[in-house]
Amino acid sequence: MNPILELRRVRARYDEITVLHGIDLSVAPGQITALLGPNGAGKTTTLRVAAGVHPITSGQLVVGGRDVSGIRPRDLARSGVCLIPEGRGVFPNLSVRDNLLMMTFTGRTREEIEEIAFARFPILAQRASQTAGTLSGGEQQMLALARGLATDPAVLLLDELSMGLAPLIVGQLYEQVALIARAGVAVLVVEQFANTVLEFADHAAVLVRGRIQKQGSPDGSLRSELAALYLGSV
Ligand code: ATP
Repeated sequence: MNPILELRRVRARYDEITVLHGIDLSVAPGQITALLGPNGAGKTTTLRVAAGVHPITSGQLVVGGRDVSGIRPRDLARSGVCLIPEGRGVFPNLSVRDNLLMMTFTGRTREEIEEIAFARFPILAQRASQTAGTLSGGEQQMLALARGLATDPAVLLLDELSMGLAPLIVGQLYEQVALIARAGVAVLVVEQFANTVLEFADHAAVLVRGRIQKQGSPDGSLRSELAALYLGSV
């Protein structure tokens, strides 16, 4: 399958400090790609670059075979690239229903959006009138995913889906993410702690200090590389 989104030799910086030193990464429809690595490696920056919200200093961002480097984030979003940031981006003081209603800017009706959301995450229907801030962390993540799905994404960029959640909940969320991917969406997910995502990922890349150290199928050699990394010996 041809990639839908590619980073080619991407470099990026904050002020004078370069934090991505020539990243090559691609995601294909129907696949989950995991970008893993320690604190400060540049994972979030990579996602922000992929979403067009952080500029690249050299290299290319390619979507659907087209070089879109420098494109405005809103135009990239129109091409189907959807970023779900760390912290989930839900509005805690609004109800679940109103959080979903805000997605009518996509052109879908309230009914369509709720149908998509509640079919994928039935618990959200039960919570529809609750304010989002009263949901559990896992339910908030479901709401964030449901809001993302309302944009009919071709590429879903997920930052630390597992943040603050119990392993069981993370596994359940990844089962849903896998179904979303199987429906044809390309998913790029950033995680610091790798175990659960590796059970679901089709492809994984290890980022260390702004460079991809290893990438491929999430097999034994990639897992040992990660283990070594987190034990501090790499
Ligand atoms: P974490 O898991 O801690 O979020 P990460 O792998 O996602 O780490 P990034 O957040 O992309 O890493 O950060 C990469 C580097 O860029 C780090 O050294 C970080 O301190 C720096 N950095 C991130 N955001 C900014 C910013 N707004 N201004 C300056 N430097 C930044």
